[in-house]
Amino acid sequence: MTLPPLIDFHCHVDLFPDPPALVAACDRDSVFTLAVTTTPKAWPQNHEWTRGSRCVRAALGLHPQLAAERAIELELFDKYLPESRYVGEVGLDAGPRYANTLSVQEDVFVHVLRACAREGNKVLSIHSVRTVNRVLGCLEQHLPSGRGRAVLHWFTGSRSEARRAAALGCYFSVNSRMLESKRAELVDSLPDDRLLTETDGPFVLRGDQPSHPPDVKYTIMALAARRGWTIDYTRALLANNLKSLLT
Ligand code: MN
Repeated sequence: MTLPPLIDFHCHVDLFPDPPALVAACDRDSVFTLAVTTTPKAWPQNHEWTRGSRCVRAALGLHPQLAAERAIELELFDKYLPESRYVGEVGLDAGPRYANTLSVQEDVFVHVLRACAREGNKVLSIHSVRTVNRVLGCLEQHLPSGRGRAVLHWFTGSRSEARRAAALGCYFSVNSRMLESKRAELVDSLPDDRLLTETDGPFVLRGDQPSHPPDVKYTIMALAARRGWTIDYTRALLANNLKSLLT
């Protein structure tokens, strides 16, 4: 029996030194990888790198940390959206460096959600630093269930926010940092059938090296240990969750 694929549902493939080599490695090792991007301008190149790939999919993105300076690229976002089932990285960030652009970020995010709702069937990887309730409010209002699917990447909200997100149909892509020390308790509270894994490479490090998609196996090991599951069970569950997400 072949093992289900590993899943890296949030990786910045285009920020690694050799993206085509990374795509080839994901195909070789059977790691289903979502190659998120940060500006619509990056879409054509990422699409090109991944169009022949068995396991890697590119996502059309506009990162909230760039939203203020790149709002002008929304026109490109709309132009490329029909070419992509996947959208990300998008969302909101009210961390100290970006809180001052929150209203522009929200305009951009709402534009993105409405465009996705119009086309339908999109799967989004969403950033929600210090803005979970605001992000969920935007989803509730602008991406009705049945018009798209949301995956909250590197979720750092509270347990009650996690419950609200789950009730709205959100999935959660979990990375190695989320399973460290105290934060792991939040991951314990996420519903089994909404869990996915991610690296957020190259931003998240493994030792002193950027995390690569196959490194999700360590996240799977940590997750399995927290929940008292076997590795095989965990891999099968995650693969099943991905399947439900994409159906
Ligand atoms: Mn990211």
